[in-house]
Amino acid sequence: MSQREHIEKALKTIERSDLNAFITVDYEGARRQAVEADAGKLDGRLAGVPIAIKDAISTKGLRTTCASKMLEHYVPPYDAFVIQRLRAEGAILIGKTNMDEFSMGASTETSFFGPCKNPWDINRVPGGSSGGSAASVAAYEADLALGSDTGGSIRCPASFCGVVGLKPTYGRVSRSGLISYGNSLEQIGPIARTVKECATLFEVIAGHDPADSTSLNLPVTSCEQSISDDITGLKIGVPLDFFGEGVDAAVENATRKAIDVLVDLGAEAIEISMPSLRYALPAYYIQAMSEASSNLARYCGIIYGHRVKKDQDWHQTFSKNRASGFGKEVKRRVLLGTYALSAGYYDKYYLKALKARTLIRADFKRAFQKHDVLIAPTMPHVAFKLGEKIEDPLSLYKEDINTVPVNLANIPALSIPCGKKGKLPIGLQIIGDQLDEARVFNIAWQFEHNTKFNKYAE
Ligand code: GLN
Repeated sequence: MSQREHIEKALKTIERSDLNAFITVDYEGARRQAVEADAGKLDGRLAGVPIAIKDAISTKGLRTTCASKMLEHYVPPYDAFVIQRLRAEGAILIGKTNMDEFSMGASTETSFFGPCKNPWDINRVPGGSSGGSAASVAAYEADLALGSDTGGSIRCPASFCGVVGLKPTYGRVSRSGLISYGNSLEQIGPIARTVKECATLFEVIAGHDPADSTSLNLPVTSCEQSISDDITGLKIGVPLDFFGEGVDAAVENATRKAIDVLVDLGAEAIEISMPSLRYALPAYYIQAMSEASSNLARYCGIIYGHRVKKDQDWHQTFSKNRASGFGKEVKRRVLLGTYALSAGYYDKYYLKALKARTLIRADFKRAFQKHDVLIAPTMPHVAFKLGEKIEDPLSLYKEDINTVPVNLANIPALSIPCGKKGKLPIGLQIIGDQLDEARVFNIAWQFEHNTKFNKYAE
């Protein structure tokens, strides 16, 4: 198949799809690049591969909305660092994917452009906030995708859509050009149908960028090289805290069976306890909302964002722009975050959340002194119904119970399919120590290679 045919096939699949996985499809750009690929003008590790980009990542000349009315018409003047890397490796940017508004959510239902749907059951959510990225890869609307993960936004949709997604170590992938939500927690990361493809995409986007002051200036270890290594003697910690109340029996069973597979391959598994994890969810939400309230202050319609027509005094203009440009969930978080940071409440909420974060990091550090990786369910259950939780913010926040600890600890974690409940995929979470992505990919590959849970890998 020529690249042109390959791209046309993906574009047709998007056109025929009911998933609403894309906010913007770049038909013209994708076709132009496919012609270049066929003429041998695109080279690199991703030459001619159609890739979908979460609409929170800046793409030069291509609208980037963050799924918000606030940025409905925003066209970035520059490419994010990761986009520069993709272009340098010959990837074809097929479009920008649907997401929760400003990455706030776990279901891709808060998008200004309407909800995205789950490819395994059209009445269910794809997870979020990078729902469009995972759904598009699962449905062959793209071969690869980029998402971002502040508290689970790559791993949750990867789990619900039955694909592979990695949240890298904090600082491993540049955030330059990523529209910030909770900047001390988030990373851009790869989503793919197989472990190997996920590792390749990770290698392409990882590395130092002086434009991001939190970017690590350390060499990127090759993940592809050690991907099929033997895992005999590997020490797996199984934190029971991830199997608490609310975890579906089918999810627990699938996770335990997955651990047995790894033990049969020569690994050792030991159950452990990480008591500080009970603080993870509140600590995450206080911190994420506080950072959001500060990061979103720039969208007042003066330099950035939606602007109402009739200008009155600056105060009214500012308020009207924000009141009409942001959706309900974004407003809730800006208000709560502002409250948590305000004088008199700072110590009680924000500072306390930071202290809890320190305890959580220490717990992970201790766990990694004795174990090479930790394994747990990614999500407490399979994809839920569209509309089921959207009116109840707390129940949506609880979705993140098993994903946010990893962001608070700045460590990498990958979600990989490990079974099904009915027709809906279940995700296994493999958590690594700082910068230990290569080992995480190695275990994921061994699991994928020795089981039949990933239908895309057959
Ligand atoms: N669901 C979480 C939240 O709403 C995580 C979102 C994300 O990782 N961007 O904050």
